[in-house]
Parts: sequence; C-alpha cells; structure tokens
Amino acid sequence: MSVVYNFCAGPAMLPTPVMAKAQQEFINWQNTGCSVMELSHRSKEFMALTAKAEERLRQLMHIPDNYKVLFCHGGGRGQFSAVPLNLLPQGQHADYVVTGSWSEAAAKEAANFGKINVINAIDESEGIKSVKPFNEWQVSSDAAYVHYCPNETVDGIEIFDIPEFDGVPIVADMSSTILSHHIDVTKFGLIYAGAQKNIGPSGLTIVIVREDLLGKARVDTPCIMNYKTAADNDSMYNTPPTYAWYLAGLVFEWLESIGGVSAVEKVNADKAALIYQYVDNSSFYLNNIDSQFRSRMNVPFWLADESLNDAFLEQAEAEGLVALKGHRIVGGMRASIYNAMPFEGVQKLVAFMKKFEEGNR
Ligand code: PMP
Repeated sequence: MSVVYNFCAGPAMLPTPVMAKAQQEFINWQNTGCSVMELSHRSKEFMALTAKAEERLRQLMHIPDNYKVLFCHGGGRGQFSAVPLNLLPQGQHADYVVTGSWSEAAAKEAANFGKINVINAIDESEGIKSVKPFNEWQVSSDAAYVHYCPNETVDGIEIFDIPEFDGVPIVADMSSTILSHHIDVTKFGLIYAGAQKNIGPSGLTIVIVREDLLGKARVDTPCIMNYKTAADNDSMYNTPPTYAWYLAGLVFEWLESIGGVSAVEKVNADKAALIYQYVDNSSFYLNNIDSQFRSRMNVPFWLADESLNDAFLEQAEAEGLVALKGHRIVGGMRASIYNAMPFEGVQKLVAFMKKFEEGNR
C-alpha cells in the first residue's frame, strides 16, 4: 500500500515508529506473556510504565514539582465539566474567553455549574479574523479562574503568547497544541488536553494542575472527576485507560528521541509556513486569519470556488492525502498537522494543491 498522510483533526495520526513498536509488543509485552492491555493497572510492571511516562512528560514540558500530572478519562469535554466542579466554589464566578467554537463550548458547559462571565476576544473587522489584545480581555480580578483555548482546532486560531492577570489562575484547554511548542507551565494554574492529537489515542486526558488549586472541589463532584482524588491515588482511583496510557508513554519516548519539544517546534513552524505561504500567494485558496494568530496545528483553507470542494477532496484522497474536509461549522478544508505529521506529508499536500489549482484555473 502506498503511503497515506492523514490530516484528521483527531483522533489523529500517530508516529509510525510508535505504531510499529506497539505492534511488535502487542501480544507479549516485556516478556510478561501478556498484552499490556491485559495487565492489572496496579501490577508493578504497569506502575513502572506510568511512572516513566509521567517522568518523560515532565521532562518534555519542564513541569515543575509543585504541579501534579493526572491521567484521566473523559476527553476535553470531560474537563469542560471537571474544571468548574473543581475550581469554581459556589458564590464565585469564572471568566471564559471565547476565541472560537471550543472555548465557546467550554463556557457553555461551565455555565451549568456556576456563574460564568463570557469575554468575546475575537475581532472580525475588515474581513480578517483576529484576537483582541490581552489588555482588552476584561478579566475580573476576583474571578476564581480565567479559561481560554490557546489553539482553536476548528477555527484554526492559535494564541502563542501567554496572558497574565494579576494572580487569577489561568486554565488552558491545550487539547490541540500541547507538546507542539515550548510553553512555560508556571504561567498556568491548570492545563488540560485530550490525548487524541499530540499525545496518543483517544480515551486519555492529561491534566497538569498546580497543587494549591487542589482540594477545592464542590462536594457533589463525581469522584472520577475530582482532581484531588486522582492526585492522591496516582490517577488510579478507578481503572485508568491503560492501553492509551501505554501508547502515550511511547509517544513521549518518540518525541524525546527526535530531540524533544524544541526540535518538533521547528518542524511544526516549517510545515505550517509551507501551507500558509502557498495559500497567501494564490487567489485560488483563501485563509482570512490574522497571520499572528494562525494555528500551526490546524490549518484551515477555503477554495475560492467552493463548487470544487468535492473534486478537491476526492482527488486528494486518491493521492493518499486523507481527512482534509473542514469542520462542518466552518466548511472548506482543514489540514491538521500535529507532531506526527512528517514534513514530507505537508510537501505532498502543497504539491497536490498546486496541481489541483493548475488543473482547475
Ligand atoms: N477542546 C479542543 C480544543 C478540541 O479540539 C476538542 C476535540 N477536538 C475538544 C476540546 C473536545 O475533546 P473530546 O472530544 O476529547 O471531548
């Protein structure tokens, strides 16, 4: 079979060496005679695996000791509920900055649990979509926390700088940007990410939380969503998604082997630049997002003549370039180019875009 490059937004492609290693040890993991997915999560072999995975993630992201790393269930949307349940005491409020569809969904879910102030930070004047500067995000000094989404997977908007709001803890949904570039964890109260983009398969969710934010959960918080319960039990209060955790560990090992986050960050910048440059130099394709805020993970683009969309997708697929259809909310195309997407995949995509343009001008 010829090579397929999968541009899906998530579950997304995983690094080939990771898949090959998983295949090789699928039935007999480390001479246990069992698959890793058949082992008790409390066995000493599995506990060693989880400790190593956490150590690797801590090193890759430079996570300080006063942060807990939790390996949870429930995906990004699970955290949309878990965050207010754990961090929003009754009678207080939280601020939610909206820059696209995922931050909007997070705010909507949080409103089920307490008082939420929604701050619209999108500026859409003159046909260009941009993000308002941080000093226009009217965050209240007494908010329990402020939530934002540094990379909007659907809209293709990424905020690279990190805001600061006078001691108000910052909570960030990093589902589609975690591990793609260096971030200063100390600027955040809490970071969460569903695994299915840059970490591993779906089913696992990572939460990185500063210790002083633990222990404030509402009494009616379900036990499997309670961060303190998870932290006190090494993320094993209930049976964790063990196979996804194992694969995440392999992804961290792979990332380390290619030079860590700083190395992948460079490749990611080059991959995104290749597509944006091509789009900007062509009137056949469009992208209306302010260049400062263009996502390096999810690159949306639109064909000026939308009647060609189906032909574009069909012909791309025939060349092994799959899952390029944009999210139904925004239409057009979207190339999700997470860490596992090799540079050659993006080169092949841009060559195809050029060929398609030439054939349809
Ligand atoms: N937040 C972001 C930024 C996402 O991209 C997604 C999923 N694509 C979610 C939250 C929701 O994640 P899940 O489907 O794991 O609940």
